Amino acid sequence: MTAPNRLLLDTAALVANWRALARMSGDAACGAAVKADGYGLGARDVVARLRAAGCRDFFVATWAEAAALAGSGASLSVLHGVRADDMAAIALPGVRPVLNTAAQVARWRAAHGGACDVMVDTGMNRLGISADDIAAGLLDGLSIDTLMSHLACADDDSAMNARQLAAFAALRGRTGARRMSLANSAGIALGAEYAFDLTRPGLALYGGIPSPALADVVRPVATIEAEVLQRRLVPAGATVGYNACWIAAAETWVGIVNLGYADGYWRGFSDRGRAFAGDAVLPVIGRVSMDLVALDLGTTAVGEGDRVRFDPDLPRAAAASGMSQYELLTGLGKRFARVWA
Ligand SMILES: *Cc1c(COP(=O)(O)O)cnc(C)c1O
Repeated sequence: MTAPNRLLLDTAALVANWRALARMSGDAACGAAVKADGYGLGARDVVARLRAAGCRDFFVATWAEAAALAGSGASLSVLHGVRADDMAAIALPGVRPVLNTAAQVARWRAAHGGACDVMVDTGMNRLGISADDIAAGLLDGLSIDTLMSHLACADDDSAMNARQLAAFAALRGRTGARRMSLANSAGIALGAEYAFDLTRPGLALYGGIPSPALADVVRPVATIEAEVLQRRLVPAGATVGYNACWIAAAETWVGIVNLGYADGYWRGFSDRGRAFAGDAVLPVIGRVSMDLVALDLGTTAVGEGDRVRFDPDLPRAAAASGMSQYELLTGLGKRFARVWA
């Protein structure tokens, strides 16, 4: 059975993005966040390509995500740590938790779990133990590979970045950790002092551009290619789609395309998204509806069975749809045939 829609995935762009971020990371190693199934692209395929390029440190959210990568040979850190229910999985080879709470630390100690990572909160108030916990000896005797923290405003020019940087740098030498790691994609763009020993880009690997400094560096990786199911001539004054929102100002050739919510093509693209046939722009008209989208075919000859490509420019698609670039990537559905070039 062939899927009508394809997600065209560009190995060269993925690798070029990682290499560019690795260069910007200076002497620090550059890892890769591959949680949420590689931000929707397919974690196994992403890991294989980045390992071949030289990436050695990968980050997932859960042990189930780690188990799905079993046999990939990757060194994996599980960002959400270890819950009691995860303990059966901790023997997965090459996988270690990022301990986030005192209870997780205690659980890991009780299991004689071996090497781990630790998340320390430096002001975001999301996950992590505190600097006071460290001062009180919470981590004493643990075998810590990487001590990490996460920036709350890396994609903003915020004074909080420097505050978090200073709080994190003050922990240098205080835990016996082999490495320190602070920067996500946007953090890498903040400057060399944010790189420490290891950086953890996610979004920018996959074509997302979280801050202007990455605009000339990052290339799109994923492009939706969908098939036209019907070409129809809509007379002036007639409407297209649910709720009859779009009204033809003039006679219009319309293409109905096999794409919708389950694919991660959200309602926010109604009247605002765009596809391409060659260089011709085909605007989305009317409501994106469950599994179908209508396009204004203009003067093109695009017809039934032809494939059109949706705009792969994530900042532009995010601005058009009102979704974040993260949502657009991680929402990409399961129905696509994922085709790597
Ligand atoms: C997801 C995540 C990253 C990657 O962030 P991007 O903004 O996608 O680059 C890095 N570190 C942690 C702790 C994360 O949860």
